[in-house]
Amino acid sequence: MTAVSLNAVEKSFGSAKVVKSINLSVNQGEFFSLLGPSGCGKTTTLRMIAGLETPTSGDIMIRGVRMNTVPINRRPTNLIFQKHALFPHLNVFENVAFGLKLKSMKRAVIERKVGEMLEVVSLSGFEKRSVNELSGGQQQRVAIARALVNEPAVLLLDEPLGALDLKLQLRLQRELRRIQRSTGITFIYVTHNQSEALTMSDRLAVMNDGRVEQVGTPAEIYLKSATSFVASFIGRTNLIEGVVEVEADTARMTDGPIIAVLDEVERFQNGERTLLSLRPERIAINPAQKMDNAIDATVAEVEFLGSTILYRMRIADGRLLFVQALADSNPYAEGASVQLGWNRDVAIFIRSTSIAE
Ligand code: ATP
Repeated sequence: MTAVSLNAVEKSFGSAKVVKSINLSVNQGEFFSLLGPSGCGKTTTLRMIAGLETPTSGDIMIRGVRMNTVPINRRPTNLIFQKHALFPHLNVFENVAFGLKLKSMKRAVIERKVGEMLEVVSLSGFEKRSVNELSGGQQQRVAIARALVNEPAVLLLDEPLGALDLKLQLRLQRELRRIQRSTGITFIYVTHNQSEALTMSDRLAVMNDGRVEQVGTPAEIYLKSATSFVASFIGRTNLIEGVVEVEADTARMTDGPIIAVLDEVERFQNGERTLLSLRPERIAINPAQKMDNAIDATVAEVEFLGSTILYRMRIADGRLLFVQALADSNPYAEGASVQLGWNRDVAIFIRSTSIAE
């Protein structure tokens, strides 16, 4: 069942169109992320779902009901921001109970619901604490409990972990995922952090300049990037663009000194221009076995990343290729001559463009 759908939704501020005809469909119980660089329109999209902004055109539907003119407090949604607005004069229990009290629920029911929710966010026993005596991560968990206790159909989260340190971010990412699974509530999560979106989401939409470039599972987005923007925004990649030569049952593409043997030959036509994305971790350095593709290079830069090493390898035309290898106590040194290799099936086909274009 569809929880939220956006049909041709657009938003302009004055003459600036910041959301450009977005179509999206988020399933019930799904952890769905909107991922993209700063200013691409993620927050505006989320605010339109929440009811804080009105679309200039198009429809926003929640559980099949058109929401465009429904005020924020009548929507089955709750919103959590990076800067949680807890009530500083209330303790943890009272903060979480706030919305339930507004609904005039019985004391016993409120106590049960708040207790359950504090358990979900691992804050049982903190009921009487002032929220000022909590760490940033604990405060954010109170904000999450306060939003969830109202049992929204959809929880909207706008970079909720952005203000926390990296270690806490990683812990709360796992916790948020667990909370989402255990409650079954649909989460729509805005972030500009690729690894966060890839780890947490069932599916995500990658946005760029007010548009959705691709919707898919984390694996689809990473391994089958549909556009060069998606391929280079999600981690690093090498984009290879050249002219295809088909001969009998093999196809090759030439891009300067790179001669790439192509997979799925039937996809290509002689003379067409094609763009491929080749992930750095898919390229082998001095491979022991013969691979479909080989090219000579010189190590230009070595960057130690902990579990892996990122090399920048210079090829004959002076271009640099990213190559990522498992960390090794004896890495290749700058200036070393190496051979790079990859098999044809690891390059992601992005698009073909006719030569005339
Ligand atoms: P970030 O990750 O930096 O929050 P974002 O992808 O969430 O970025 P939005 O906040 O949706 O981007 O903003 C998209 C564009 O719309 C930006 O260029 C922003 O300056 C503009 N914008 C947002 N709100 C308004 C507003 N109320 N009035 C005018 N322009 C706005």
